Amino acid sequence: MIPGEFAYHAPGTLQEAIGLLTRHGEEAKLLAGGQSLIPLMRFRLAQPAHLIDIGRIDGLASIGERDGYLAIGAMSREADLESDAVIADRYPILVDASSVIADPLVRNLATVGGNVAHADPANDHPAVMLALRAEVVAEGPRGQRTIAIDDFFLDPFTTALEQDEVLVELRIPRAGAGSGGAYLKLERKVGDYAIAGVAAHVVMNGRGGFDQVGIGLTNVGLTPIRASEAETALRDGGGDEATLKRAGELAAQAAQPSSDSRGPADYKRAVVRTLTVRALRRAIERANGKDL
Ligand code: FAD
Repeated sequence: MIPGEFAYHAPGTLQEAIGLLTRHGEEAKLLAGGQSLIPLMRFRLAQPAHLIDIGRIDGLASIGERDGYLAIGAMSREADLESDAVIADRYPILVDASSVIADPLVRNLATVGGNVAHADPANDHPAVMLALRAEVVAEGPRGQRTIAIDDFFLDPFTTALEQDEVLVELRIPRAGAGSGGAYLKLERKVGDYAIAGVAAHVVMNGRGGFDQVGIGLTNVGLTPIRASEAETALRDGGGDEATLKRAGELAAQAAQPSSDSRGPADYKRAVVRTLTVRALRRAIERANGKDL
């Protein structure tokens, strides 16, 4: 099918884009990489009367460390994460995620901001952002505000963004000594959405235990899920194998999968259990300086 009729806008500044969102209200949608929105429009599951393309706005695609954060501009493409030297060196969990999203053609267009703003429970970045305890920076007619990632995903395809706000940046606490993360995903075939995915991030305390643990789950619930009890078990219990297995068990219990063409719910829980242990092992190895 082809999309219904719509007016196309290509604002040159963020303020113009926000002005268009304000003027056209519920009839407007932002267009970033178009890799989720255009397919929805082609099936007429989304029929915005006004499409606001934010691809020509300067300054939304930078990646860099500043003020205690890694700041990722909303229009950074998946392919940018794969080629950025700082990310390769200090945030390999982001490369783990981007490299298993779709295929290189999609990744050349799909944006990190779009992946998070779209809030598809099957998307890979939301769980990674949960594990990393990221913040979302939103800008609208009332100015700029920061939203903690735990408050961002409300329902499938529904976020805390107001209709007239643009996600402009994701902020990830700067990687310090002893921090490491990993994202693992099981898929039916290369390029598919996850049967289940697990993001793990740790900050070691120098004595074999943890100052911080973050665990996020992909596609096993209506929103990305933080496996809080698994995080606590690890923080309290240390990094021995028995505690890792206990964390895997608790993460499987936190998952709320449904049975569908990607497998029965029990199978997906078992996938979460196994991937959690493996992702934590890899995160710990990276935190200890192994180049994986
Ligand atoms: P768009 O499609 O342009 O927009 C998506 C939604 O987000 C729209 O509602 C739009 O209005 C809103 N939006 C976009 N940017 C902003 C912003 N800055 N502020 C506010 N709202 C905004 N994703 C995965 O995670 N894993 C996969 O395995 C995967 N496989 C895919 C396979 C195929 C074949 C395709 C086509 C896509 C796949 N995707 C996958 C989705 C892809 O990564 C999407 O591109 C991504 O989810 C959305 O990013 P986008 O820039 O394309 O956003």
